[in-house]
Amino acid sequence: MVEQSIRKFITQVSISRGFEKFYYLNRNKKYRNNSIDWKYTFICLDNENALDTNFRSSRKKARRIKTMMEELSTIEQMSKYAPHIYQGWNCVICGNAPETFDHIWTCSDNRFLLSTIRDDTKSLLTNLLASMIDNNQYITYDVNLITDLWSTTNSEIFLNFIDFIKGFIPLRLSQWLIQFNLKQNDVTKIINELRDFVDERILTDIWIPRCDRVHDMEKMMGITNIMKRTKPNEIYSRNFTSSSSSSSISSFYNNINIDDLYFGLRQKIYYGGDLLDFTLHVNHVL
Ligand SMILES: [Zn+2]
Repeated sequence: MVEQSIRKFITQVSISRGFEKFYYLNRNKKYRNNSIDWKYTFICLDNENALDTNFRSSRKKARRIKTMMEELSTIEQMSKYAPHIYQGWNCVICGNAPETFDHIWTCSDNRFLLSTIRDDTKSLLTNLLASMIDNNQYITYDVNLITDLWSTTNSEIFLNFIDFIKGFIPLRLSQWLIQFNLKQNDVTKIINELRDFVDERILTDIWIPRCDRVHDMEKMMGITNIMKRTKPNEIYSRNFTSSSSSSSISSFYNNINIDDLYFGLRQKIYYGGDLLDFTLHVNHVL
């Protein structure tokens, strides 16, 4: 009994430290200053579509966590693991800039696609809402009022559509929905459907075509999987060390098991309590 609770305590402490690190990372500053609905953020991360197989849903979950943590396999990420292959490559879509996580959304060739997905998301939200609100009620609703959601300009200060793609649910969205006196279940359903829709469209319209292009380039250059795995040791260790030591994000990932962090946070939400209170509480106990 005692052993069990100590174990639980240790797990919770490391989880809260993990969350704390994530929360206080410099690049995540805007999520502290702006209003994120953490409850819906984690409900969406955990949402499983009934039609999905286990395999499909666990891949989806992994992809969502990677997107939220900005860990998608961009050229920048790939060149950390196989610098002898990818160093010096630019974005395979526009060819004009290094492919960082941010570049996926700012890439000149993706801007139109991104705006289209955003506009289709607006229409979906309007339709979902219309289907759930009593037809006899005369209610006007303007989805444009949810300003934290629709801008496709990436910003370090303001919430925008790219944060929604990453999986952060703005408080403005849930609050805007609640004003229509919807049941909690309907609010959850709408937000989940929006996230699923955006997720699927980003995958099929932007990410899969981009991965196909990378494969085509590799094929054209005669790069095989064996070549990717066979690293010229000296070059590899030098580059890897220099890139990881300069990044606080890399050291964060070295210390934290993302799955533990995620499952712990989810449990915390189900068992109640505010995430930030939880962090403060654990700090106090320590
Ligand atoms: Zn590009």
